[in-house]
Amino acid sequence: MSGKSIPNRILLPEDQTPRQWYNLRADMPEQPEPLLNPTTRQPLREEELYPIFCKELAHQELDGETRYIDIPDAILDYYKTYRPSPLHRAYRLEEALGTPARIYFKFEGNNTSGSHKLNSAIAQAYYAKAEGLAGLTTETGAGQWGTALSMACAHFNLPLTVYMVKGSYQQKPYRRSIIQTFGAQIIPSPSDTTNAGRAILAQIPDTTGSLGCAISEAVEKAVTSEGHRYVLGSVLNQVLLHQSIIGLESKSALALYDEYPDIIIGCAGGGSNLGGLIAPFMQDKLTGKANPRIIAVEPASCPSLTRGKYAYDFCDTGKVTPLAKMYTLGCQFIPSANHAGGLRYHAMSPILSKLYHDGYMEAVAYEQSNVFEAATFFSKTEGILPAPESSHAIRSAIDEALLCKASGEAKTILFGLTGTGYFDMAAYEQFLSGTMTDHVPTDAELETFFAE
Ligand SMILES: *Cc1c(COP(=O)(O)O)cnc(C)c1O
Repeated sequence: MSGKSIPNRILLPEDQTPRQWYNLRADMPEQPEPLLNPTTRQPLREEELYPIFCKELAHQELDGETRYIDIPDAILDYYKTYRPSPLHRAYRLEEALGTPARIYFKFEGNNTSGSHKLNSAIAQAYYAKAEGLAGLTTETGAGQWGTALSMACAHFNLPLTVYMVKGSYQQKPYRRSIIQTFGAQIIPSPSDTTNAGRAILAQIPDTTGSLGCAISEAVEKAVTSEGHRYVLGSVLNQVLLHQSIIGLESKSALALYDEYPDIIIGCAGGGSNLGGLIAPFMQDKLTGKANPRIIAVEPASCPSLTRGKYAYDFCDTGKVTPLAKMYTLGCQFIPSANHAGGLRYHAMSPILSKLYHDGYMEAVAYEQSNVFEAATFFSKTEGILPAPESSHAIRSAIDEALLCKASGEAKTILFGLTGTGYFDMAAYEQFLSGTMTDHVPTDAELETFFAE
């Protein structure tokens, strides 16, 4: 199928918003390795997660069997304020590249929070409210998760405390203000409000913080505050489950025009948007119905899939969380200070790690100046200023489209445009002024983190 009969944006009608999430684990021939209790090193039982997560989310985290899970009406109602999200045909990008490839992108920046994170934020806030909790704690790095969760908590009238990585707290004052506007409390991390924060400050007083360290603080705060639980915006199985709505909508929208992707590309930080985008296509792959290539794109300065180890590790720096088997750079890993391109988490979703390990997907890493080159090219052709994170996927989609140009193949490429970059102008400014530098850790540098 080809030609201009395919619209610029494929918009599913509101009543075709998927009513169920798809749980990819149900179709995996082998399950990801179980989470381990950090003290006993035994597989975690659901009840052991209750002090950290609300019950329904603890259940979803460990449920590898239920293939489809009903989306509660209150969540569906909220989804309708911004979903189904548009699937764009990137005609202008195709033309500028002179490629015969057909390029589609699923645009998740089309809601007020500006990223896909709202898909899981609203679900997690709903279940917390339904359980009658007193409040939630979380961390945020670049700020998109804090923004999305503060919106979701405002909707359900649920108090929220956000530990924001100190570096971005200082760099992105407007992110802070948005989160505060929605009524959440925000604390730069590491802070002196937790043991984990105080320990990290004692070790590295001038640290700009990391996601792993903010997670330690948020978890500690939750388990020491009456009626509070912790929520996380990526990595976890439950988050990939909620994000499956991205892939389900994409697949239906493409099917309206008899399209099916040959290549599916997503940026990968903790793996939630990629896991969600690929879910129903990976299902086809696992069940032998189709065989698309699936590519995870990560920054060369934080290369968990391409250069990490597949091993049990903590999800946080302070080692208070359960252990997960995943591709990891070591929980003490902090990307170089000149890294402005997002996707800074030290490890990758256990589900994606397992699929990658078993050969169902590929991974590539790009240096950030190369990524920002793609971002500016995309903004000029398609008129959307992409988030630095999303721009990793754009880089790879452009490179695949250029390979099609060289070979003359008209492949169908689908990538996830996870968000807009309007709060990341400091990073764009670095790129445009030529002060952006790249940092690729040496093997010796990585070894120091693995060793700990
Ligand atoms: C958080 C975020 C990402 C990376 O997170 P994943 O869990 O890997 O999807 C990518 N893009 C945007 C816009 C984000 O906010």
